[in-house]
Amino acid sequence: MALVLNGKLLAQATEEDLKIRVEKVKEKLGYTPVLATILVGDNPASVTYVNMKAKACERIGMGSQIVRLAETTTTQELLDVIDTLNNDVKVCGILLQHPVPKQIDERACFDRILLSKDVDGVNSQSYGLMSMGRDAYVSATPFGIMRILKHYGIELAGKHAVVVGRSAILGKPVAMLLLNENCTVTICHSKTKNLPDIVRTADIVVGAVGKPKFIQSDWVKDGVVLVDAGYNPGNIGDIDLENCINKCSAYTPVPGGVGPMTINSLILQTVMSAEKLANDER
Ligand code: NAP
Repeated sequence: MALVLNGKLLAQATEEDLKIRVEKVKEKLGYTPVLATILVGDNPASVTYVNMKAKACERIGMGSQIVRLAETTTTQELLDVIDTLNNDVKVCGILLQHPVPKQIDERACFDRILLSKDVDGVNSQSYGLMSMGRDAYVSATPFGIMRILKHYGIELAGKHAVVVGRSAILGKPVAMLLLNENCTVTICHSKTKNLPDIVRTADIVVGAVGKPKFIQSDWVKDGVVLVDAGYNPGNIGDIDLENCINKCSAYTPVPGGVGPMTINSLILQTVMSAEKLANDER
């Protein structure tokens, strides 16, 4: 029987612990620290995600502030908003919901977020530090994936991990984190040749493609650990999990696997930032 890597349960348990940590932080600071979320435009999926993040903050007693900006916002206007939040002492974390409208230089905006407030791990410097194994906030989904693998005691050192996808927020950072844990890592993308053959050599497969049931059961070997980061319409992952369950040793379900760990990792890092502020460690 394959082990279910249950992200929902782990996220719930972590929230209970975070509630206690937030109470202590509030006592020390004398005010409620805030996660500021910037939403540009009104993309329905982004609106839903931003509201889910605000609710998660409220559940653990952390403050949340949603800054809503027009679809026509310019890069400079967004940079000015980020500067204001960078300078607001009560804001201990800043999240810029992406994607942003095309006229905006998203990378410039991500890189404007102070490292000490980059709780979604999107700043290029955060990525660089994390890749070097140094202290930095980590992109939320990759951090969630590593936390779930560690929680369930999945052996990583010496294993061959194949990451399918190389986005800046998911594929690349999760590959670096797995490498830091001494996996041998192969990163695949849309130009990769013989993808099924490469996936067949994997002890751990991370699906981060954005295509429903893209990774097939005959691409994976017996005993593989499957991490499905995909979240496609209809709650469908990037791996054909249904047909892989009899072959794999462990898997993250969709929904209830990687998804809940993403928001949970965001709020965990927000609490870590608030603790650093309260302990004067910034
Ligand atoms: P993305 O930016 O669109 O990146 C997709 C990656 O998949 C790219 O690197 C692309 O390669 C690669 N790819 C596309 N077609 C491929 C093919 N035929 N063969 C091999 N590789 C292929 O997507 P993302 O933001 O990383 O998200 C990936 C998935 O994770 C989506 O389902 C998304 O919904 C999900 N996600 C979930 C969460 C969560 O909280 N659960 C968070 C973030 C993302 P190229 O680089 O060559 O184009």
